[in-house]
Amino acid sequence: MPGTDLEEAARQARRLVADLEAEAAAIAESTAEGPDDEHDVEGSSIGFERLRVAALLGRAEASLKAIEEALARQRAGGYGRCLSCHGPIGRERLDALPTAELCIDCARSSRA
Ligand SMILES: [Zn+2]
Repeated sequence: MPGTDLEEAARQARRLVADLEAEAAAIAESTAEGPDDEHDVEGSSIGFERLRVAALLGRAEASLKAIEEALARQRAGGYGRCLSCHGPIGRERLDALPTAELCIDCARSSRA
């Protein structure tokens, strides 16, 4: 049944965002005590970790947003329709990219 994949993808994306938020919170907590000269080396690796987690979190949130938008289109009955030309988006394209908003032709021409 169509839609199950998106629901599952949304569940996974939400879990990933929650995990990364917990990780970011743990890092923030471990640095909340302020800089400590004795932990300079550790401090710089924590800074790197924080950037890495923030980047991953940003990407996870963006993909969750795309999935939720696709789910909203699905609820509204517009899922699988191109947002630009309103033509159907090919099944193969939706399988490969469940959050696709444009049909392959519009995606190509918008990139060109
Ligand atoms: Zn189109």
